Amino acid sequence: MEKIKMITPLVEMDGDEMTRILWKMIKEELLSPFIDLKTEYYDLGLENRDATNDQVTVDSANATKKYGVAVKCATITPNGARMTEYHLKEMWKSPNGTIRAILDGTVFRTPIVVKGIEPCVKNWKKPITLARHAYGDVYKASEIKVPGAGKAELVFTAEDGTETRELIHEFKGAGVLQGMHNTESSITSFAKSCFNYALDTKQDLWFATKDTISKKYDHTFKDIFQEIFDREYKEKFEKAGITYFYTLIDDAVARVMKAEGGFIWACKNYDGDVMSDMVSSAFGSLAMMTSVLVSPDGNFEYEAAHGTVQRHYYKYLKGEETSTNSVATIFAWTGALRKRGELDQIPALMEFADKLEAATVKTIESGRMTKDLALITSIENPEVLNSEGFIKAVREELEKSL
Ligand code: NAP
Ligand code: MG
Repeated sequence: MEKIKMITPLVEMDGDEMTRILWKMIKEELLSPFIDLKTEYYDLGLENRDATNDQVTVDSANATKKYGVAVKCATITPNGARMTEYHLKEMWKSPNGTIRAILDGTVFRTPIVVKGIEPCVKNWKKPITLARHAYGDVYKASEIKVPGAGKAELVFTAEDGTETRELIHEFKGAGVLQGMHNTESSITSFAKSCFNYALDTKQDLWFATKDTISKKYDHTFKDIFQEIFDREYKEKFEKAGITYFYTLIDDAVARVMKAEGGFIWACKNYDGDVMSDMVSSAFGSLAMMTSVLVSPDGNFEYEAAHGTVQRHYYKYLKGEETSTNSVATIFAWTGALRKRGELDQIPALMEFADKLEAATVKTIESGRMTKDLALITSIENPEVLNSEGFIKAVREELEKSL
């Protein structure tokens, strides 16, 4: 079989620990034999981030802006322990945070649904994608621990010095205070990313906040979404046969529980943090969750939702057998390859991505899986494979379908 040719390179962001090991195996076993892989390689492994003073992360994000599609391996976000472990010059920022700041995107997380790994919610038949606004609110808040009685006010000073004041509370005793913000430009990006992603994946879009209580803050989110929808997306949605609707967050939660799935649920930053963990664990496993960062001007960065699986890596270093699930990382690659195929009009590449995903799902559905899934599957007597064994089993399935 002749290898599939690519036109534009994919931005390849390599990473750390166990996922770096899986990354190499996936390329060698599942991609390079079938595709003339064209990537622009950036090594985001912690050693190289340290050696380049993290410039490599910035370069990789800028390359994503240039080419449009990236695939990223999980990376270590350094903390105190990592400073010592890797003798770091500085506690470098989270690469995902850096990339997000440059691409200005929204994160979409979707569970990979397979027979045999059943969602806890019985009526969920199709995946539910969570779109999380990744800027502001309580994540960028200022807080005060109020020591005792006193008056708390919200003050905005305009550039010309004009002050706007709002009484928060007359404290009779001790308490707590919080001030948070968001910006029109970030909410606009969030809305556009959501509308574009809904069109791209042909799924309905739900958005929910608590605008009945938060009549200015949350209501602004609601208004911006509605204005942009009416102005730029209404007709496109009609043409695609999909809908956008807004409801209250508590109503959305109730509806999500009763729904079949197959839609995108857009959430403000905090709601998205909490709800995406709920949705992903109810669907089965973090190792079966894909994640894509979509920027408002149409750049895509695909990755797995889980981390570098440190505990497994230390076992691997000791020469012990590991059974690490590579599904989300495989799907990061297929997502990126399919998108590249779509943008460059290479049907063979899109078809390959479909087939690799199908082969991965079929492998699990035939009872061959890694340990994390074997522990939760409803399939009887599953065959537990090690990290490499699972990837080889997927290769077998893939070759049957090519
Ligand atoms: P983690 O790597 O997601 O792993 C936590 C635990 O979840 C693992 O110990 C393992 O459980 C299970 N698990 C996760 N992915 C799995 C997989 N593919 N197959 C099988 N089991 C899996 O999170 P962490 O240990 O908290 O973080 C490790 C490093 O990853 C940290 O340095 C963190 O900064 C980084 N991180 C990166 C990203 C990213 O790049 N997007 C995201 C999150 C965390 P058992 O040990 O019980 O088997
Ligand atoms: Mg969380």
